[in-house]
Amino acid sequence: MYDSILIRNGTVVDPEQGLHRRANLFIRAGRVEGITMEHPTTQVVVDASDCFVCPGFVDMHVHLREPGFEHKETIATGCLAAARGGFTAVAPMPNTQPVCDSPRTLKYVLSKAHEVDLADVLPICSITVGSQGEELAPLVQLASLGCYAFSNDGQPVISAATMRRAMQAVRQIGGVIIDHCEDKALAGDGVMHAGSRARAWDLPGITPLAEEVHIARDILLAAEIGCPVHIAHLSTVRGVELVRWAKARGYPVTAEATPHHFALTVDDMPGPDPNFKMNPPLRSQADRAALLAGLQDGTIDVIATDHAPHAPSEKARGFREAPFGIIGLETAVPLIMDQLYHRGILTMDRIVTLCAVRPAAIMSAGPRTFTPGAEALVTIIDPSAVTTVQPAGFASKSVNTPFLNWTLRGTVRATVRRDKIVPYPL
Ligand SMILES: [Zn+2]
Repeated sequence: MYDSILIRNGTVVDPEQGLHRRANLFIRAGRVEGITMEHPTTQVVVDASDCFVCPGFVDMHVHLREPGFEHKETIATGCLAAARGGFTAVAPMPNTQPVCDSPRTLKYVLSKAHEVDLADVLPICSITVGSQGEELAPLVQLASLGCYAFSNDGQPVISAATMRRAMQAVRQIGGVIIDHCEDKALAGDGVMHAGSRARAWDLPGITPLAEEVHIARDILLAAEIGCPVHIAHLSTVRGVELVRWAKARGYPVTAEATPHHFALTVDDMPGPDPNFKMNPPLRSQADRAALLAGLQDGTIDVIATDHAPHAPSEKARGFREAPFGIIGLETAVPLIMDQLYHRGILTMDRIVTLCAVRPAAIMSAGPRTFTPGAEALVTIIDPSAVTTVQPAGFASKSVNTPFLNWTLRGTVRATVRRDKIVPYPL
């Protein structure tokens, strides 16, 4: 769209180059021309005064719901929510209808994403056919079409033997397993964190053990087989400790945490409100503290939203019956800035590592840096702008968020993806 773009006068944050200083970022033909103090003449100028100019953020855990559940979200609405939320790339999970376990469905998602052209879409395919946990999906064939990440998100692989076979295949492909860790038998019919609040509301609880047993199992399998395993939505003290233990031994294990798990605990639930129902559930204060420590010390590699849109009628079924999940694409950056940056928990360099550098590396999505010649993928963040979370402002089709009416300091100014700017005009 634009032959040349100048992002002027922002604080350029590029941890890969050890760069953190006020400068202009000059883009030509969708690639970084250079970081300069000069003001070259360009087709468009984006004023980034008082903003951070960061390599493009990647959300490696979203649900775009298409095909099959277009009443919740579509690739078009999800990608617009991503771009507005500051993400230049998203990785949708395969739990669609049909499940993304075949070349046909993968090609459908890729062609839709290409048509929409608002964010780079990196589809995650199912490990097993239909995410049933039995027969392996055609992993080699899917990889040949450009999919390198595999997950049965929401439907964990129950058999350790099947997971071992999957890891052997994914290692050969050079891919990664993204692991929704949940022992379904231990989780039972639980709908929220097990503890005093679940008891008070007479709701069945989900023990942290349900998550931790599978994390331990899959870390051991990853160590044995040498297949990269990325633990999705880490939520417990012992989960963080297990990942730390694995990393200390050099096992090929990475992990992510979501904004809702670092911002909220079970004690923040106003009542059994379905907009606070997600899997894994909101946990204790100690669990949240462990996540914050893991985000600081590098045990946790990535912040990912687990953006999980559901229609209002589905969330209105009451806490027991409502589906798990909340949206996250358009609240993630404000929550990261308000809850982590402004409170001095994470530096901007660390935030860029968690939101851009590491997820792009795990997803084989290319480097996130501003070296000359690199693809121009940019997230521009105004750290001081204050916004109030309102459903009317969402590009997402759904509004299921526990952060309604939260006032947050720090927001996305614009997303630049090669030769395009969203939102524009600014
Ligand atoms: Zn999951």
